[in-house]
Amino acid sequence: MHDEFTIGIDLGGTRIKTGLVTEGKILDLKIIEAKASENLSNQLPHLEQIISGFKESADGRRLKGIGLAFPGIVNSDKNLVIDTSSKYPDAPQLNLTRWANQVFGVPFKMDNDARLACYGEWLYGAGKGTTDMVMITLGTGIGTSVITNNQLLKGKHYQAGILGGHIIIDYKNQSDLCSCGRYGCPEGIASMWMIDRKAKQDPLYPQSKLAEAQKINWETILEFSAAGDELATRLKQHCLDVWATAIINMVHAYDPERIVIGGGISHSEKELLTFFENELTKRGWCPSGIPELRVASYPDTAAVLGAGSLFD
Ligand SMILES: [Zn+2]
Repeated sequence: MHDEFTIGIDLGGTRIKTGLVTEGKILDLKIIEAKASENLSNQLPHLEQIISGFKESADGRRLKGIGLAFPGIVNSDKNLVIDTSSKYPDAPQLNLTRWANQVFGVPFKMDNDARLACYGEWLYGAGKGTTDMVMITLGTGIGTSVITNNQLLKGKHYQAGILGGHIIIDYKNQSDLCSCGRYGCPEGIASMWMIDRKAKQDPLYPQSKLAEAQKINWETILEFSAAGDELATRLKQHCLDVWATAIINMVHAYDPERIVIGGGISHSEKELLTFFENELTKRGWCPSGIPELRVASYPDTAAVLGAGSLFD
């Protein structure tokens, strides 16, 4: 309906994105800095202000509901946070349904952020038209989510499909402690926050170009690797191998027809997709052919779109 709109909120670790969403489009987007170590209740007044602003600018459209993407495990039937992995620590105690109802008089829905990014891409982006897809986001962390038979996969305890970044692939690793509290998972050995730490601990670091970089991320790894830097080249190959392994495991687990890759990889799309395709062909068990690989259509806003689309 043209005369209605929804609010989609993506509650990130460092930034909160709030979008005015209608018919699969984000018409307006506000981004505020957030400290995820602080309580979510501190952020609610800021969100209320943004949402009120959107209501005023909505051209007479009616606010239909508020959807929220949360970085943790979420009971999406009761709209309650089950586990926050230390982000927004008061979230499990909050009744956000009541908040949305009391402040704005509208319904509220929430789910895990990776799951809603997948939902946004599936409805309106790189996953459109598929019945079965996997999304994997390679960035500061590693997020995954799954659509199976035209539905978001949730499982008995709402964690199905979203822990692909924490499938243990190196059971001997007891040194790289992951954000999940375990060792040897893709996020714990090849996410950008860990690569930054690994680079700085490496004996080659003092003579590596990475030591001069303001920030170590995929872009700097690529740049210095291309310039022949030994440490950057080794870390690049390490990431590629771990990411390909994670993708193959997701394919074996969920049998998608398409894999959508999100995250900060836009400078190397072609190289990455070709590498993953080759690895899937070599190492995957795919007698019906390997799934199609695509880069996300909305690398920064898929979760906002997904959250806003929960009322469609
Ligand atoms: Zn982990």
